[in-house]
Amino acid sequence: MSWEVVSLATRTFGDVTAAVGSEYIGTAEINRPPDNFFDADLIGSLADAYEWLQRDGARAIVLSSVGKNFCAGADFTGRSGQSQSGQSQSGQSRSMQSQSGQTRMSNGGAGELYEQAFRLFQVPVPVVAAVQGAAVGGGLGLACAADFRVARPQSRFSANFARIGLHQGFALTVTLPGIVGQQRATELLYTGRRIDGEEAARIGLADRLVDAEHLRAAAGDLAAEIASAAPLAVRAIRATMRAGLADRARAAMERELSEQQKLWPTADWWRELLADSGWACPTWPICGRSLPAALGQVVTDELKRAGIPGPPDGLGMMLVAPVLLEHGSDDLKQWFIRPTVTGEITWCQLFSEPGAGSDLAGLQARATPDGDGWLLTGQKVWSTGAATADFGLLLARTDWEVPKHQGITAFVLPMRQPGVVVRPLRQMNGHSSFNEVFFDGARIPADHVIGEPGGGWAVARTTLAHERRLAAFPRAPAEARGRAWREAIAERTAAAEPHKWYPQRAGRPDLVIPQAQALGKAADPVVRQEIARLIELAWSARWMADRTAAARAGKNGPEGSLGKLASSRIAQQAARVHTMIAGAEGLLAGPGSLLGGIIAEILVSVPGISIAGGTDEIQRNIIAERILGLPREPDASARVPFREVRAG
Ligand SMILES: Cc1cc2nc3c(=O)[nH]c(=O)nc-3n(C[C@H](O)[C@H](O)[C@H](O)COP(=O)(O)OP(=O)(O)OC[C@H]3O[C@@H](n4cnc5c(N)ncnc54)[C@H](O)[C@@H]3O)c2cc1C
Repeated sequence: MSWEVVSLATRTFGDVTAAVGSEYIGTAEINRPPDNFFDADLIGSLADAYEWLQRDGARAIVLSSVGKNFCAGADFTGRSGQSQSGQSQSGQSRSMQSQSGQTRMSNGGAGELYEQAFRLFQVPVPVVAAVQGAAVGGGLGLACAADFRVARPQSRFSANFARIGLHQGFALTVTLPGIVGQQRATELLYTGRRIDGEEAARIGLADRLVDAEHLRAAAGDLAAEIASAAPLAVRAIRATMRAGLADRARAAMERELSEQQKLWPTADWWRELLADSGWACPTWPICGRSLPAALGQVVTDELKRAGIPGPPDGLGMMLVAPVLLEHGSDDLKQWFIRPTVTGEITWCQLFSEPGAGSDLAGLQARATPDGDGWLLTGQKVWSTGAATADFGLLLARTDWEVPKHQGITAFVLPMRQPGVVVRPLRQMNGHSSFNEVFFDGARIPADHVIGEPGGGWAVARTTLAHERRLAAFPRAPAEARGRAWREAIAERTAAAEPHKWYPQRAGRPDLVIPQAQALGKAADPVVRQEIARLIELAWSARWMADRTAAARAGKNGPEGSLGKLASSRIAQQAARVHTMIAGAEGLLAGPGSLLGGIIAEILVSVPGISIAGGTDEIQRNIIAERILGLPREPDASARVPFREVRAG
């Protein structure tokens, strides 16, 4: 046992310390004692260390770990839990780095883990693993990704996946048969049986057996023997011996991921399954089964009861997909509805402009035919979520010679292109949901027109009717449990980020009575009277909405304006009562403020509900003209060519 590392250079990669020794031997030591549970970060760090060692001249690498066990598997509760749900920042950036032209393995966090694990198979230098305690589950996979394993008689090996209900093993289905033979590998994988070092040595899983004291030295001796051989010949032999192993490992890992999804489904997997089976949006003809609204609700309730998260929340599902279903070409429906339902793409609404809000038909963003498509110039404002959206539902003027309503065209605009610049705006409640969006020669493909050129006003009306019915983002059901829901909730939180103040925008009537009680105002007759007025408004609005829904059988109509106006009245009344209850203190935010600043946020957010999706005055106009049949508001600009209208 002569080998000893004389370290020439040392570097730390996360929880892995790497050193290059004097005999061209590299060492990589995992430092997560006692069990060295792994996650995507740790495996990524190890792959970084291998790659660095190889670049720095290592001809063989000793892989060891600090603590009782070599690697006792993945830690599903600790850091690895974060990576599993795809939330780890470093994991995400790693997986971006490691793409190197390969298609990424899907399945969120597990996919990231496999991306990193796969890099271990690609390092051209032989690796000797020193297995002091347990190499279990993915820990055995880690050991089997090495070329040799030096172990103690007491070391323990187990591929325990079947026992814990997983199929996730660093391509053990490929490496293990190559080491111990097909039949033994099958037995070990099916049963998850634990074997000790003695048995491991008998079946070829351990190449050498030594006591704990000499374990690393023995691994080092083997590495030294390899490092003293002709390095190019070693690499050539290794490349031949392991010919195709990396490819087969990758294929096995992809298969593992897809099989694992059946055991441990992700939100994405559910969404794809629901979209393809037509249960995602039961009332729609695409990703659905064209069921009547009442039956659609039954399906939604059943899925909820079964604990299955449905399609994502957001503008895409609530506005854009219904609009595409009504006005889009077959191609647009085919291209955009399914990825919206599965959550692959997100949307924003590009309607309002600095000079066109209530008078939306006065918009001036200009789309001009250009080759095989359209060229877009101009500006939008108030565009919620535009900073993160993949596509925009856009209204632009395409004809200036006809009256204003007739010269507008609706488009699907790809947001991620050089001609589109998005600048976030800061609101008075401190959030930054809105954006200014500037177009300078942005391109729109010819087949991204929704409806007919010049027919954009009909698309706008459908959109606005849906918008007026928009509810706040729904909360996850109380019974939401498990990985798919965890992922759906994380995604919903991200999607709802620009909307997270919307509950406050609605006035939070739910907080009124608890606040009156907490601040000793529940017996005040004036406060009680205002609370009663609020409740009366809320209940009558709900009954009116139910009556409207029953009368229109799920179709939108001008009655949506009644609901929109009612929401605005309720929010204003709630803010009024909050002010009466809280007094001046209600204006304070920050530490020690009422409900951690929620009351203050209500007071500065409520005005938004009277503006978004059409102001209160505009709703009153619609109610007057289209429900009560009163004469239309005169609009001198509605009949002349838009070019002659003084707009802005
Ligand atoms: C929370 C929120 C989210 C939004 N999200 C988006 C988005 O994602 N995409 C998007 O395109 N837009 C969005 N908007 C913009 C919204 O649609 C516009 O703000 C709204 O249509 C009003 O337009 P404006 O701000 O230009 O006001 P203006 O139209 O300039 O109105 C100013 C005032 O004049 C009144 N007024 C105007 N015309 C009349 C009339 N004919 N009769 C009586 N009174 C009138 C209005 O009621 C208002 O009080 C959002 C707005 C808010 C508050």
